[in-house]
Amino acid sequence: MMSFFIREDPLTGDRHVIASVRSKRPHLVGQIQTEEPFQCPFCPGSELLTPKEVMRVEGESGWIVRVIPNKFPAIPHMHDVIVDSPSHRGDLDTIPHLDKLLWTYRERMVHYYSTEGVRFVALFRNRGREAGASIPHPHSQVVALPFYPKRFLKEKERYGRENRDILGNFLEREMSIQERVLMVSRNFCVLLAYAPVTPYEVWIVPKERVSSFIFERNLEELAGVIRETVSVLKELLGEDLPYNLTFQSAPPWDRDYRYYIRILPRVSVFGGFELETESVIVSVAPEEAVRDLRTVMYARNTE
Ligand SMILES: [Zn+2]
Repeated sequence: MMSFFIREDPLTGDRHVIASVRSKRPHLVGQIQTEEPFQCPFCPGSELLTPKEVMRVEGESGWIVRVIPNKFPAIPHMHDVIVDSPSHRGDLDTIPHLDKLLWTYRERMVHYYSTEGVRFVALFRNRGREAGASIPHPHSQVVALPFYPKRFLKEKERYGRENRDILGNFLEREMSIQERVLMVSRNFCVLLAYAPVTPYEVWIVPKERVSSFIFERNLEELAGVIRETVSVLKELLGEDLPYNLTFQSAPPWDRDYRYYIRILPRVSVFGGFELETESVIVSVAPEEAVRDLRTVMYARNTE
């Protein structure tokens, strides 16, 4: 069975193609972690291999999070690498101090937003080579930019034109129809993106309007929601799932926005069509993706 339709992102207006063939599900089975002949610069004991750290979070026996300047910065002095955990094989579903990692993200955002000339702070996490990670040890990146990125500008243009909380209204509608909602906690809703750019693209949205991640107070709860979401995605798509996680967040001086987090499994690659049109073709409809993920969750809950 094949379904085909065009979807418009409610926030940006970007249009993408959903061309779903049920039998052609992306499934990752092979190993992406290969031999690692070099000494990992992010493991405990290798601290001298990295530039001097600008911040660290201490655990009971040594550091649990380190922030270091990127050796190959996109913009000099404006690009952090955050070592998420001392554990080389850790990921968001297994890192025990995830709330403290989120706290570190927020601190670095605050730092850069109080730096002169910074307009926007990009915060993201790449896992796996297919997602752009060159080092397998779990890490995140923070890049401060002297300009507003295109996606944010497109969203802001709509917020300005329609003069309302676009994401909030969208969320309300999604929560009432329940066609793409994966889970709901006290303060967050997890749903499949309406117009995804990768199969199984997931959004985590605060239920109350919070414009910037800087103002997010429920870090412990958010950590639990991220942990559960990543764990369900990996159970369905493979333990070695490559993915990107991005924070779509306004600067603290702009309150007319609602921040959200995207998780983008990299189970497909972009080619000429995507480069030519800036649209993508996605092979799994979000309504099918949510059914697959719900099946995994229900099986867990009844075990
Ligand atoms: Zn390591």
